[in-house]
Amino acid sequence: METKDIATPSRTKALLAQYGFDFKKSLGQNFLIDVNIINNIIDASQIDDETGVIEIGPGMGSLTEQLAKNAKKVVAFEIDQRLIPVLNDTLAPYDNVTVINEDILKADVAQYVEQHLSNCKRIMVVANLPYYITTPILLNLMQQSLPIDGYVVMMQKEVGERLNAQVGTKAYGSLSIVAQYYTETSTVLTVPKSVFLPPPNVDSIVVKLMQRSKPIVNVDDEEQFFRLTKAAFSQRRKTINNNYQSLFVNGKKLKAKIGEWLKSSDIEPTRRGETLAIEEFATLYNNLEKFPELQF
Ligand code: SAM
Repeated sequence: METKDIATPSRTKALLAQYGFDFKKSLGQNFLIDVNIINNIIDASQIDDETGVIEIGPGMGSLTEQLAKNAKKVVAFEIDQRLIPVLNDTLAPYDNVTVINEDILKADVAQYVEQHLSNCKRIMVVANLPYYITTPILLNLMQQSLPIDGYVVMMQKEVGERLNAQVGTKAYGSLSIVAQYYTETSTVLTVPKSVFLPPPNVDSIVVKLMQRSKPIVNVDDEEQFFRLTKAAFSQRRKTINNNYQSLFVNGKKLKAKIGEWLKSSDIEPTRRGETLAIEEFATLYNNLEKFPELQF
C-alpha cells in the first residue's frame, strides 16, 4: 500500500493521534496540509539533484518529504524535541535527509553546511518558517556570509510585503533595505489560512530571495549603514533631518550641519525616509566621511 503524502489532512491527523502530539503556539507550529502549495514552493526553488537544501522547522516532515524527493541532500533544523521521533518515522524512506534538533538561531549553520552540503552545486533555504522569528532567522542567515544561493520561504504576509517593498510604498522600510541589499526579492504566491493545521491568525505569503553576487551598493561597514537607514524610519512621519537629529551625537545642535550633509548628497532635508532608495542611503552614508562632526 502506498503511503499518503504527509501534507494531507488525513495523514497529518493520523500522525498527531499516533504520537499524541499537541501544537505549541509559542513555537509557531502551523503544519501544511496541502501538497499543491508545497509543489508551488518546490517549483519556485528550482531544486534538482545537485541542490542542497537547508530547511528550518520541518515539523512532521510535510515539506521535507517533497524536498527529499527533489534535492540532493536536505539538512533540517527542528527545535522541538517531541518531533524528532515523528520525523525519524515519516522520513525513514529518504536517506538524503539529516534532521538536527537545534534552535536555528543558535546552531552553527556554517559547520553543518560544510559537513553535509559541501558537495552540492547550489544551496537553497526552503521553509515554512516559524512566524514569530521570521526576521531574525533571515537576517541571521543573510549576514553570516554562508554559501547560500537563495531562499524560498513562507511567512506572515505583512512581513513578506515589507521584504519585497519598493521605495515610496507604505511597506518600505529598513527591513526592505537589508533584504534587498543582499538579495533580489519577489513574491511567489499568497496562501490562505485553510492550508494549515491549525490555521494561523494571519495570512501567509511565499517569498523568493535570490542572493546577489555582490551587495546592491558599496559601503565599508554594513552594520553602521543599516543603523543609518533604520534611523531614517524611526518616526515615519518625521522628515529625515528630524530623524537624524535623534541619531547623531548632539544632533539637535547639529541641525544645520545635517542639512548641509543631506544637501551635499542631493537629498532635500524635508523628505521622509520612505522616499529614499537604497542607492541614496548609500550616497548619504559614503558622504559622512566629509562631515566628521556627524558621529553616531
Ligand atoms: N515545515 C512544517 C510544515 O510546513 O508543516 C512545519 C512548519 S511550522 C510553521 C514551524 C516549525 O518550526 C515548527 O515545527 C516548529 O517547531 C519549528 N521551530 C520553531 N522555532 C524554531 C527554531 N528556533 N529553530 C528551529 N525550528 C523551530
